[in-house]
Amino acid sequence: MRKLRAMTTVAGAAVLVAMAALTTGPAAQADRPMAGDLVEYQVHDGARNAQVLADAGLDVVAVRQGGDLVVAGDDSTADQLRGLGLRADVSRRVHQGTWAAPSRPAGAGLQDETYYGGYHTVNAHYANMDAAASAHPDLASVVSYGQSWRKQQGQGGYDLKAVCITKMAQGDCAVNPNSKKPRFLLQAQVHAREIATGEMAYKYINYLVNGYGKDATVTNLLDTTEIWVVPIVNPDGVDLVQRGGNSPVMHRKNADFTQADLQRCGDSVSSQPGVDINRNFGYGWQSNTSKCDQTTSTSNGSSDSEPETKALEQFWGSLFGDHRADGPNDKVDAGARGTALMLHSYAGIIILPWEYTHSVHSPNDAQFRAMGKDMSQFSGYRYGQAGELLYDAAGGSDDYAYGKLGMASFTIELGDNGGSCDGFAPRYSCVDSKFYPYMQKTFNYLASKAPSPFK
Ligand SMILES: [Zn+2]
Repeated sequence: MRKLRAMTTVAGAAVLVAMAALTTGPAAQADRPMAGDLVEYQVHDGARNAQVLADAGLDVVAVRQGGDLVVAGDDSTADQLRGLGLRADVSRRVHQGTWAAPSRPAGAGLQDETYYGGYHTVNAHYANMDAAASAHPDLASVVSYGQSWRKQQGQGGYDLKAVCITKMAQGDCAVNPNSKKPRFLLQAQVHAREIATGEMAYKYINYLVNGYGKDATVTNLLDTTEIWVVPIVNPDGVDLVQRGGNSPVMHRKNADFTQADLQRCGDSVSSQPGVDINRNFGYGWQSNTSKCDQTTSTSNGSSDSEPETKALEQFWGSLFGDHRADGPNDKVDAGARGTALMLHSYAGIIILPWEYTHSVHSPNDAQFRAMGKDMSQFSGYRYGQAGELLYDAAGGSDDYAYGKLGMASFTIELGDNGGSCDGFAPRYSCVDSKFYPYMQKTFNYLASKAPSPFK
């Protein structure tokens, strides 16, 4: 690809983009810049500087062969990269079509309400869970485990919801840690704009409830395991994303902000108000109070400031109990059962604790890596601690789930390793053609590890 210097002017950006369109082929979805475009930069020899870029608030999404780094942003990101002394090309520009409201076909149920070519709205996800439970009361039940920030504020918002799927026997799917069956917990869309992740949850719910008694793998899993799915961890954030219709808003964080915050920050891929739920968990937490950053880690100066974070922590404790003392060198106790997976996009990697630092391994590192290696066979994704693959990320879900509670908790970032299904908003066909087939195998694998993940 031709080398392009970072640009500062709109006219310059137009030239740069026209050149990028010539050199990137069909993956380039636009020929001229538009407000709100997602711009991907290939940062030359950037891998050595991944932590510096992440600490500067840039969105580092992947490392490519040869040590180049992929950074997502918008047109203003070119200035930031240049300010850090780095050379970067625009490798891809995605502009997001024309706006259209969420829609559903005539006669279709609310569970079929979609935006941007097929992505399900929050209401559709919730209706899909309710439909699974009402059509299959022997297999599924829905629980609310909290309220979103906006719901708590009386500003609309949503309940926080999960579905438990198993072949129901007496006492199954009770929200306490003394379940007969071990549990696998799947969670998606904590980062609202990572829209393919919620679709993985939607499809997996339907695969399970429709497959029982027909598919031997599903039947065996549901006879022996409780599978819990939270398809939308951050419904307030997803509500902002879906309001863009065919131009999904690139909102990552929750909706804990004021109108003044919104006016000051805007709501773009690189500057937006709210708190990053996945930097807010209280294990290995670090403070970032910059309100417009993508990784704002608190609203009040402390960890666990967000209702979505606290509700998840309590929910996890209720489902899995506490099987680990909290020190960095404490191993999980012998009674620990269950597995958990938080879905993100779009680096195409499997991440295991610790994520706040890669200078030490967790005391259960060998077991985490063994499972990471197994999972990598389905997707081809690399596995390791966050800082080994990209950069250290403090205050994330896995460090709390493992560090505080002893859960066997992983993160997977969907991705296409530079292919046309990369990006926060890949075309909907990527869900079926690319991501779901290997993620279904991954979910079934982690469910099968629920009885004794650390053995
Ligand atoms: Zn994410």
